[in-house]
This record gives sequence, C-alpha cells and structure tokens, in this order.
Amino acid sequence: MKDSINPATLELNGSVQETSNEDLKSIFENARSAQKIWQKLPIEERARRVVEINKVMSTQYEEISNLISSEVGKPPSEAFTNEVYGVIDATFHYYSTVMETIGQKREIPLGFYESMEKKSYVIYKPLGVIAVIGPYNYPFAIPFMQIIQSLMAGNAVVFKPSSETILTGKKIQDIINETKLPQYLVQTIFGSGSELGNPLIDLADKVIFTGSTVTGKRIMERAAHTLTPVDLELGGKSAMIVFPDVNMERALSAVRWGVFTNSGQVCCSIKRLYLHEDIYDEFIDKLVKLTKELKQGIPTERGVDVGAMINLEQLELVDEMVQTGKNEGAKILIGGRRNPNLKGYFYEPTIIGNATNDMEIVQKEIFGPVLVVIKFSNKEEVIDMVNDNPYGLTSTVWTENIEFGKRIAEEINTGTVMINEVVYTFALAATPWGGTKESGIGRTHGREGFLEVVRPLHINVDRSHENDPWWFPYDEDALDVVENFKLIAKSLIVKDDE
Ligand code: NDP
Repeated sequence: MKDSINPATLELNGSVQETSNEDLKSIFENARSAQKIWQKLPIEERARRVVEINKVMSTQYEEISNLISSEVGKPPSEAFTNEVYGVIDATFHYYSTVMETIGQKREIPLGFYESMEKKSYVIYKPLGVIAVIGPYNYPFAIPFMQIIQSLMAGNAVVFKPSSETILTGKKIQDIINETKLPQYLVQTIFGSGSELGNPLIDLADKVIFTGSTVTGKRIMERAAHTLTPVDLELGGKSAMIVFPDVNMERALSAVRWGVFTNSGQVCCSIKRLYLHEDIYDEFIDKLVKLTKELKQGIPTERGVDVGAMINLEQLELVDEMVQTGKNEGAKILIGGRRNPNLKGYFYEPTIIGNATNDMEIVQKEIFGPVLVVIKFSNKEEVIDMVNDNPYGLTSTVWTENIEFGKRIAEEINTGTVMINEVVYTFALAATPWGGTKESGIGRTHGREGFLEVVRPLHINVDRSHENDPWWFPYDEDALDVVENFKLIAKSLIVKDDE
C-alpha cells in the first residue's frame, strides 16, 4: 500500500494499492482495446462525452478542494481557484475548440504540382495510449488538463500521479469513472516513478511529463530507446523585472502572491526579482513589510495565506539553498528558516537581497517560498541577466509603458512573457504552455497542446491518367522534362524589388 500524508498536520490522509510492473502489460492491452473503439467516434461525440466531467464535478467542488489541500498543504480556496476551476474552464474550452483545431481536414496548396491534378490534405489522428506523469504541486489541474486534451483527440491515457498526491490522482480517476467514458480509457497507476517509469515509457505512444528537469532528462533518455515522443514540462526560475514607472502598489501585491502562493512550489512562481536601482530600496522595504503580514498556518484555517511544503526532503533542500545564499554573500531580509511554531513542513516566506546574477541562488531553481532580489540599472543589462539562466519557462515585465514592455518581452527567451501580471497564465486553457532550455520541450494547452497529442496524416490524391514526367525511362523525352523543370525553377526566383 502507498500512504498519503498531510504535510501540514502530518496525519495520514489514506492509502491506495500500488501497481506492479507486471500489471502494466495488461493495463496497456486494455487501454489499446478501449482506444481502438474510442478513436472511431466522431470528434464532436468524444468532446461531448468528455465535457460530462464538468457536470460530475459540479457537486464536488469543496470535496475536491479539501482533498488537494490535505495532500499538498495549500489553502482549499487556492486549490479551487488555481486547480478545480482551471480544469472546469479548460474542459469547456477544449470542448468548444477541438473541432476547429484538429477536427477538420486541412487542404494544402501544392503550387505547380496541382497542374498535374495532384491534391493534398492533412487530417489529425490520435497517437494511441498516452502516459501522463504528474507532479505534486498542482496534482489536479496539471495532469487533468493534459488528460482531457488527450481524450478529446481520440487517445487513451495511463496516468501516474506523484507518490505524494495519490488520493488526488485517484479522485481524477473517480471523476472519469462517473462519466459515461468507456472503461479502461483512462487508468491511473500508483507507485514510485523510479520503478514504474521505465516500463511505462516503453509501452506508451507518447509521454507527457511534468516535473523536475532531472527526471525529465531521465525520461527523454529512456524514450530514446523506442523513439517515443515526449512532452517535457520542467523546472523554472521565473524573473520579474520592475521598471521605475511601475504602479508600485499593484506590483508589490503581485510579487507577494507570485512568490509565496502554494508555498513557492510553482514551476513559474517568481524566483528572481530584478529591481531598477531608482526604486530598489523603497520596493524592498515595502515588500518585506507586506510579507510580514502573510499568515502562515494550517491551510484549512480561515485567513491562512501560506500553507506547508510537500515534505521534509523538499524543505531541507530549500533550506540548504538559502544557506548557500548566505555563504555567497547575499542577505536574508525576512524568513530563511523552518517555521518553529508549526509542526508540519512549513518554511517561512523568505526574501534574499544583495544577490548578483552569477550566484547559485540566482541560477538554480529553489522550489519553495524563496525570492532572490537583484538590482539593475538599464534595460540592456536586465535583459542579459534574465536570459543568462539555464531555465526558460516564464518571465514578467512591469512598467506603465506597455509598448516599452512589449519590446522588452520580445527579447526574453522564455516560453511566456507576461506584462504587468504574474504566474496565472499556467491556468489558461487557450494559450500554449511550456518552456525553453532546461524548462522543457513541447507545449501543453491551447491549439499547440492538441497538436502534441495527434499525428498529422497527410493524404495525397492524384486524379490524372498520365505518367508523371519524372518516372522512368530516362530517355530523350526525360531530358525535355528536365529543361522544362529548369524553366519552372527560374520562375520561382524572387526578384529583388518584389
Ligand atoms: P519529480 O520530477 O520529482 O516527479 C514528477 C513525477 O515524475 C512524479 O510522478 C514522479 O513519481 C515521477 N518520476 C520520478 N522518477 C521517474 C522516472 N525515472 N520515470 C518516470 N517518472 C518518474 O517532480 P516533482 O513532483 O517534485 O515536481 C516539482 C518539479 O516539477 C519542479 O522542478 C517544478 O518546477 C516542476 N514543475 C514544472 C511544471 C511546468 O509546467 N513546467 C509544472 C509543475 C511542476 P514519484 O512521485 O513516484 O517519484
């Protein structure tokens, strides 16, 4: 059996039966049989059956939010707005857009070849059985949104939740079981990723993985054996750049939430704050005061803003990195230790100032409630500093001059750049989500997310009764054909003044 522990109270939430490696073979056989029938349904019918999820969930908002809270340590209200609502919104959005995105035949102009009565079109076919491997920090929204896109596109799914959040994983399966979706179309497996991971990757037609960069690289390495495609949604070190003309009150509230929501265990939470030298002292002063006002405690208690971290190991990793920062010469402005007044895994909201871009605490992901602050003096310098980082998930630019903000945004090498916003775009169903560099490859959500879970099938039709001019034999006539092609080739040169 695998246990789920509440990281805020250290009480046992419950347990589930673990899946063995031997079970995986029959799980995949069942998934393949279910998928074969499912893919034949018209896409509108698939979407209509998947959107049932919203109806099933409509009587369980509180139950689901409390469950997520009990496993991750975040306030239930945060679990609802960031996770449960996210899934509902995404399910409806995908239901409304799947047809126009991947449900229609796409005619492709062929230029000169059309004169030989050739035509091409592309349709989108499902991949088969997709393995969705989820992280612990958003154990409901992240994998569920990926599962929903995969299903609507005609795939079956084998889902492995994080070992820390098995009951939330089971809840996703229970919700699906309550809809009229075919048996075995989605199957949730429980157990350690290091044991189940390899056979899962070997059997899947695609792996959609969300988690750390270290694990992501292991998955890609394994997937290379079978050339299984992977979508990797990995770590981050998101930067917020604040220019002096900013609306300071809003920026302060935004960064406070953007750093400490979910105890900083967010792939795209603000980890690096770049402050212009003209406002550095005032901004820091106010931010430290605002951070002091945050209430940390048992997340189900009213008024608590910041809950617990997932486990002792993560908490100790964060603390180690904070100590590294001190050794590097940075200064702890607030926090910097485990909360001594609470018995669960609570790390105090922490701000570290006097940092420079080359420090380890600026370069490495610290997956907890820790913000590192760096001073800058001009836009060229700050763009270079933001880009000089192994990760490339999101970033955000703060200025009242939106056009200036856009120009900066276009110079930054991350998957998303927000202007005067933080974090929330991870919940947008309509926009592509994913990173550059060590933040991963591929995209989930939106049109791009649908394209990750299908294969384009190109169909080429010829209605002519003539031989193609380039077929054998290569005789005198063939030489005429070559000359003709040379003329056509010349007509395809773009003239300088065009
Ligand atoms: P991990 O990489 O530790 O685990 C993620 C998942 O991978 C878990 O289900 C885990 O199972 C499984 N796993 C572990 N080893 C293997 C393996 N060898 N093969 C296959 N699966 C394996 O990440 P965390 O859960 O700790 O999540 C935190 C990380 O995720 C952070 O770095 C964060 O930035 C990133 N993240 C990225 C997001 C994005 O969208 N880019 C979103 C959310 C988080 P088990 O639990 O059993 O070990």
